[in-house]
Amino acid sequence: NLPSVSGEHMLNYAPGCPERAALKKALSKMKTECPEIPCVIGGREIFTGAVKTQVMPSRHSHAVCTFHEANEDLIRSAIENSRQAKKVWELTPFEDRSAIFLKAAELMALKFRPRLCAAVMLGTGKNVWQAEIDAAAEAVDFLRFAPTMAQEVYALQPVAHSKGVWNRQVHRPLEGFVAAISPFNFCAIGVNLPSTPAIMGNVALWKPASTSVLGNYITFQILREAGLPDGVINFLPCSGQTFGDTALTHPDLAGVHFTGSTGVFHKIWNLVSENISRYVSYPRLVGETGGKNFHFVHSSADVSNVVHNTIRGAFEYQGQKCSACSRLYVPSNLWPEIKQKLLQEISQIKMGQPDTFDVFMTAVIDQKSYNNAKSYIDYARESDDYEILIGGDCDDSEGYFVSPTLIETTNPSGKLMREEIFAPVLTVFVYPEDEYIETLELCSHTSPFGLTGAIFAKDRYAVRQAMLSLKNAAGNFYINDKCTGAVVGEQPFGGARKSGTNDKAGSVANYYRWVSSQTIKETY
Ligand code: GLU
Repeated sequence: NLPSVSGEHMLNYAPGCPERAALKKALSKMKTECPEIPCVIGGREIFTGAVKTQVMPSRHSHAVCTFHEANEDLIRSAIENSRQAKKVWELTPFEDRSAIFLKAAELMALKFRPRLCAAVMLGTGKNVWQAEIDAAAEAVDFLRFAPTMAQEVYALQPVAHSKGVWNRQVHRPLEGFVAAISPFNFCAIGVNLPSTPAIMGNVALWKPASTSVLGNYITFQILREAGLPDGVINFLPCSGQTFGDTALTHPDLAGVHFTGSTGVFHKIWNLVSENISRYVSYPRLVGETGGKNFHFVHSSADVSNVVHNTIRGAFEYQGQKCSACSRLYVPSNLWPEIKQKLLQEISQIKMGQPDTFDVFMTAVIDQKSYNNAKSYIDYARESDDYEILIGGDCDDSEGYFVSPTLIETTNPSGKLMREEIFAPVLTVFVYPEDEYIETLELCSHTSPFGLTGAIFAKDRYAVRQAMLSLKNAAGNFYINDKCTGAVVGEQPFGGARKSGTNDKAGSVANYYRWVSSQTIKETY
């Protein structure tokens, strides 16, 4: 039996706590360093000379690391190396694979926690609390729960055996390699994307986002220190184009585990479809993509709860969670009170450098993200359909700062209600309070996404109605809670429509995608 596991306890970093001192030390040290990060293939570190830099989003003159990008030849040699590594890894007993992931979780929780938190704070602009959620709790949980979830896959067996027959299923790894393509916004997702296939006996090529190489590299080092054999995961920072042209068109591509934008996932899907006759097997495409997530308020809602959760859902980590709340529906009778409270709370949000321990928000990830957010704000400013109630200030002189922005619209189907912005921009539509059901229907069909959403209501009939009307609009649906913050093992995460393949990260369903089962009938 596996040891029973539970979720990692969050530390609070209050002044005087030992964890605060340890994190401060890690931050100071990291600020004086700028490590040079190689590609790693079969345990060999390769400095290719094609060097890129990762900077602090909140102080773009400060580099947190440089990294060497892989070219096409290197990716091909990584594929060959993975093939060799797989021969041993797929025969490695489940207990041994599990022990490595359990060990990695403990190394992350104890030894590497301050360093990893510091890396996501400085490197991706998270405040201390968001760093703890990501780099400590969620990343640890993904690794710690991996053996338990994998075991459930192996336990899936035929339920009937006729006389003299023994039926069984062997859940083998896929034939070939898995391409893990990870986003900037969660280093937890980064480590999970190659790890989930790996614990099932697969090998993976891991391409991290170039805006978050430092944190991802630390998690990769943790897996190696925990005993992950060389070549099971090869670490390959490079451009999406290079990776796509080489890894995603290779005959041995067995699967893609992706989190990122809807646009990039479409490109991946098209590339795979264009090359479909080349592959040994049909590659498994598992993607978690964009969202246009909503908070829907019924007139029976607890107003303080709405305000508190909406501020958190919309503005934590600068709105850069796929799950972030970016549209709000409020009944006209509650709007005056909610508006006043939102404005008051938003005006007090402190924005600044991530390592000051007292900011709620820092900067968005890069210039492209900043420009994108600004273009939506400018659009709202120029259009009669929108009124910016607070915020809308953008300043990229030191870092990519976009202030928390609340926009009211009279057009519930307009651009800002439909499109993902991935920034601290929340658009509110005030609906006539007697048009609850009609507005629920409207909400369900306004955007092409289906990731997360929340209903705020005390009235159970209203809750039931919302669950019915919004059933396809949110893969993760919250009742009287914010639409962010899914916990591994507690709220399996993912949505359908243009939000992804809904293969629920942090649940057994996701692990099941990384095996190719063989059924065996034996007569005796
Ligand atoms: N799982 C995270 C949440 O529930 C979001 C993940 C993402 O941004 O992709 O907030």
